[in-house]
Amino acid sequence: AVEFDNVTKQFGDNVLFEQFNFNIRKNEVVSIIGPSGSGKSTLLRILMTLEGIDAGMVRVQGESLWHMQKGGAWLPADERHLRKCRGHMGMVFQHFNLFPHMTVLRNITEAPIHVLGQSKEEARANGLELLRTVGLADKADAYPSQLSGGQKQRVGIARALAMRPSILLLDEITSALDPELVDEVLEVIRKLAAEDAYTMILVTHEMYFAREISDRVCFFDAGAIVEEGPPEQIFNQPKHERTRAFLNSFL
Ligand code: ATP
Ligand code: MG
Repeated sequence: AVEFDNVTKQFGDNVLFEQFNFNIRKNEVVSIIGPSGSGKSTLLRILMTLEGIDAGMVRVQGESLWHMQKGGAWLPADERHLRKCRGHMGMVFQHFNLFPHMTVLRNITEAPIHVLGQSKEEARANGLELLRTVGLADKADAYPSQLSGGQKQRVGIARALAMRPSILLLDEITSALDPELVDEVLEVIRKLAAEDAYTMILVTHEMYFAREISDRVCFFDAGAIVEEGPPEQIFNQPKHERTRAFLNSFL
């Protein structure tokens, strides 16, 4: 579903990814773990075309996000093509970024109406169904300021799902939450993973959760995949010293 093919990404003189390769299969649940600055968020941002690349190729559902220009420079594909590629993906961020002046339901229906061209009735019906999925059917008319962090994040998930993505990108979606609110959010993700209808890439510091829901866990350090494998292997028998040291820091 997602391919990084020899991708190089640098910020100024600072090379983050160099000839980076990474493939994610359809309906695979992949967790990315690793220290701060290792490139986890940048990887997701490149996928959403929020960041460019310097060389290589990124494909989403077989379609390239970038086109090679004469002379070797890489340019984003045209806006229509990018919209289509982005449309396969839904991203949920650490900070929920809800619109404060809109009700919960409108936060969810806004993009389906304006981007997908759904009718108001259709978008409202879908939105209410999604609110049921995330356990917030009674909060449709509330405003974000009236919700807890965990509830806001569940609205964030419903909002991403409303765009009918097949690939979900989740960047530390629980790390801004008080510990007692983490589980209600992870429970929603657990349900979505169990449906086996989504490709999921999640960046997380919740090791027990990564272990439980992932098909594959990837340990990143300094823009490289140091080690990857099934969760049992990464958490029980890490091969690399750097992986061990990182995991030990969570004990
Ligand atoms: P964290 O766990 O702290 O969220 P991360 O693994 O998500 O870290 P990234 O945010 O992907 O790390 O950043 C990777 C590296 O790229 C860091 O060294 C960072 O300073 C650099 N970087 C990221 N975005 C930019 C930017 N817009 N301009 C310059 N450097 C950047
Ligand atoms: Mg990050």
